[in-house]
Amino acid sequence: MRPPDEPDLELRGKLIRSLGAFREMLPGSFVERQRACGRPNCHCTDGKRLHSQYQISVLMDGKPKTLNIPAALVEKVRQKIEMRRRFDAAAATICGVNLKRFLKEKEDHQP
Ligand SMILES: [Zn+2]
Repeated sequence: MRPPDEPDLELRGKLIRSLGAFREMLPGSFVERQRACGRPNCHCTDGKRLHSQYQISVLMDGKPKTLNIPAALVEKVRQKIEMRRRFDAAAATICGVNLKRFLKEKEDHQP
């Protein structure tokens, strides 16, 4: 165990160990659109009871793309996109800890 006076290192270690849980993360953002399907007899022709279409909005090779998500995969994909957000948050915290440590180390090396 680490000494209790290094809570930053404990936090960093905990975050690092948690990163594996995000291995299935997906990039981009989750989008829900309402749309009419175009079939003349469908309830959506009233313009109110529209169909939900779920999409990933993502950059592919630097170009913005919108990809439809099959209904059966919507919940899984939503979670995988959320994983990316948590991964980024963990990485930002780890970098913050390391930056603080760098500043301290730098100070120790001043003449
Ligand atoms: Zn319809």
